[in-house]
Amino acid sequence: MRILVNERGAARLLSRHLWVFRRDVLSGPDAPGLYPVYWGKRFLALALYNPQSDLAMRAYRFRPAEDPVKALLDNLDTALRRRLPHLEGEPEGGFRLAHAEGDFLPGLVVDYYAGHVVVQATAHAWEGLLPQVAERLKPLAKSVLAKNDAKSRELEGLPLYVRPLLGPVPERVAVREGGVRYLVDLLEGQKTGAYLDQRENRILMERFRGERALDVFSYAGGFGLHLALGFQEVISVDSSKDALQRAEENARLNGLNLKTVEANAFDYLRSLERAGERFDLIVLDPPAFAKGKKDVERAYRAYKEVNLRAIKLLKEGGILATASCSHHLTEPLFYEMLREAAQDAHRSLRVLEKRGQGFDHPVLLNHPETHYLKFALLEVL
Ligand code: SAH
Repeated sequence: MRILVNERGAARLLSRHLWVFRRDVLSGPDAPGLYPVYWGKRFLALALYNPQSDLAMRAYRFRPAEDPVKALLDNLDTALRRRLPHLEGEPEGGFRLAHAEGDFLPGLVVDYYAGHVVVQATAHAWEGLLPQVAERLKPLAKSVLAKNDAKSRELEGLPLYVRPLLGPVPERVAVREGGVRYLVDLLEGQKTGAYLDQRENRILMERFRGERALDVFSYAGGFGLHLALGFQEVISVDSSKDALQRAEENARLNGLNLKTVEANAFDYLRSLERAGERFDLIVLDPPAFAKGKKDVERAYRAYKEVNLRAIKLLKEGGILATASCSHHLTEPLFYEMLREAAQDAHRSLRVLEKRGQGFDHPVLLNHPETHYLKFALLEVL
């Protein structure tokens, strides 16, 4: 059984992009699974296949293999090997063990939280393989949880559920990150429990000192906890009450002070501006405003608005740490947006560092969708 693609599908795979959409599949098996992909007689790749999904084919290997299942799981072993030195150095830390397409494991995310592992599968062909995935994770995992509640599973015709694959799963675990610890709600948190992609950027906050810092879109206090080590006053802003309760718990766990504000970030920044407040450092870590290509223009305006407000609130020489996790807002657009915000605020922005997602969220240049996080560290003058 094989998948046959048309010329456009073949061109994508030959460019080493991993995705082929259903309109470019000429024929294929009826059942989801792992299959070889051909263009005429030419072998192109091995792929996860789901004929029901618009994103019908996701390649994971560009050479033939005797055993397609073993070849896929070997990619997981390769991904684990890349992280192992970091895990061994920090067994109580939080790391992404498998970053889907970026690790040639399309549709599979595996996150490690101080010995407890959370798996999220969003491609149909993984569903039957999850026991084998758990088996490969066993040497480094006290427990493995399948957190298969991502909405995108519905596009694949998959059910939503959360259930243990290995051992009893604790409700929460404490994860070490730089100079702080934070609690992860394994069963109920956003995504797999935390936003590991910003790990290194959050730790970076420990280098700054000052009077007042503002952490906007704070979730469970991620950036704010690190800031509280060096600032007299830190305000964490989020629209989710749950997230802020966790932020307060995390602050207590570390014996640190965080002031939490439940508000819409746009309104709150405006009210700070009206009140003439000023800060030494502001973090902006908004959710993805652009979910698709169509939203880019509207999202651009929203990103520009929060950045413009933050720039106005910063003291001379203040620090803006600002991110976008929308793949569709490309890196050049992100910096163009910041330039326009600075221009409109009549302030100068000096780039201290251009950064992105952590080493454990690898980017495949041939598959641009793997690069989504932009993070700029800027001085406002
Ligand atoms: N900085 C966090 C992750 C932020 S995720 C960390 O490092 O862990 C984005 C957060 O933005 C979510 O917690 C979500 O509740 C919040 N959010 C979304 N829209 C918002 C809005 N309009 N105003 C305030 N918070 C918002």
